[in-house]
Amino acid sequence: MSRDSFHESVNHYFNRAASFSTLDEGLIDQVRFCNSAYRMRFPVKRDDGTITVIEAYRAEHSHHRLPTKGGIRFSPDVTMDETIALAALMTYKCAVVGVPFGGAKGGVRIDSNTISDGFRERVTRRYTAELIRKNFIGPDIDVPAPDYGTGEREMGWIADTYKNLKLNSGDAYACVTGKPLAMHGIPGRKQATGLGVFYGIRSCMEIAEDMQALGLTTGIAGKRVIVQGLGNVGYHAAFFMQRDGGAIITGIAEREGGIFNPNGLDVDEVFKFRNANKSILGFPGAESIANGQELLERECDILIPSALENQITADNAPRIKAKIVAEAANGPVDFEGEAILHQRGILMIPDLFLNAGGVTVSYFEWLKNRAGVSFDRMISRHEELVKRELVTAMEEMTGVKLSEEASRRLIHGPSEEELVIAALEQSMMRAYANIHRAWKERNLPDLRTAAFLLALERVAESYKHHGIFP
Ligand code: NAD
Repeated sequence: MSRDSFHESVNHYFNRAASFSTLDEGLIDQVRFCNSAYRMRFPVKRDDGTITVIEAYRAEHSHHRLPTKGGIRFSPDVTMDETIALAALMTYKCAVVGVPFGGAKGGVRIDSNTISDGFRERVTRRYTAELIRKNFIGPDIDVPAPDYGTGEREMGWIADTYKNLKLNSGDAYACVTGKPLAMHGIPGRKQATGLGVFYGIRSCMEIAEDMQALGLTTGIAGKRVIVQGLGNVGYHAAFFMQRDGGAIITGIAEREGGIFNPNGLDVDEVFKFRNANKSILGFPGAESIANGQELLERECDILIPSALENQITADNAPRIKAKIVAEAANGPVDFEGEAILHQRGILMIPDLFLNAGGVTVSYFEWLKNRAGVSFDRMISRHEELVKRELVTAMEEMTGVKLSEEASRRLIHGPSEEELVIAALEQSMMRAYANIHRAWKERNLPDLRTAAFLLALERVAESYKHHGIFP
């Protein structure tokens, strides 16, 4: 299965949802197609002084809301086509959770696992300069974030490069989210995607009727879970499923293989073990499995693919034994695999909803940066202002007006992190309720079609109001 088939899957899911809409075809096309994409090649010095040419991309899928928003992926396999598909997914994701941004995505063809820190920094800074040259980055234009192979450190370099090349920009730090706290990041962003995955699964598993249909009791507690990928998303999803949900993490798969223990694995201990040994294989008390893919096919209640796309295809879908596949990664189930899982009665919680926690908290970080309040000394004086902004944003996103007392307690009481997490929780719960309602009330085939259809209708509505389609 080629990686470009990921784009095919996104198109397939979109077209299926569009078949349930009564919107004008032209308007549907505008929501479907990518508005602009930039392919670049630039030279970077290797550590030995020789020069290599790097290929990279940025795609802005939809400008119905600005800025556009989406992560940057470092992977030797990333392609322009994959970047465009991921950008499209970002548009739909933002619409599903009510984040007022268009979708975008970036890709850089380097192997995050083998490069030195110095090379990584030179590539990141040069990539940022290229984006600035073509007007593909800026607080009002396009705002990157972390994705596969990137994290806080790269976001910090991007912010620093932007700030130093755009000397007169007052809110330069709002050009990127997922930054370290010391560079005007926001507490809670690092764990946001994985925590959102936990809230999403929890919302799904609270509905008794749906769980009965799967032969499950409600709630996460005691459920057996297998996770693929112990990176930012996978680690945090597994951690919160275990710590806050009471799930039993029976299997963890990584690139080097997988480990399995029917009595449960301590996620934090596995994480520490992998950092120390550069592999999860050999984790004490667990069975080590050389081929991590095999782990996806083991008996469990919930399978959480959190690494890459196209992990469940027509090849392995007939052997998946999980009752719920919770798509923490983007596009882990391709459309052929999806049809088989669907037919076998396996419930899929779709990526465009489930991993939207990251962009939700990125939105809060962007708002905070736009408010012009730095994270160091100024924060105490302006704390109230910032929290007020966050409360307003929460109210706008959720449509729920807080009582005066609750709003006062939030503004003066909880920490910024508590605020962020409360808003994230509410946003995920509300989004799930909307998708679920659409699925049932509109008689749609599944949650994914419901999520895509809601996204399509919301983006289309926004284009109408912008007067593009009078
Ligand atoms: P990451 O780089 O932090 O982690 C990815 C992990 O997957 C790494 O530990 C890597 O070793 C592992 N991996 C790679 N190939 C594997 C394989 N074949 N089997 C098992 N493990 C493998 O990336 P991330 O940020 O956690 O992103 C993971 C997925 O989540 C991607 O699809 C990404 O697009 C999506 N996502 C990320 C965010 C975010 O905020 N970081 C938000 C939304 C969606």
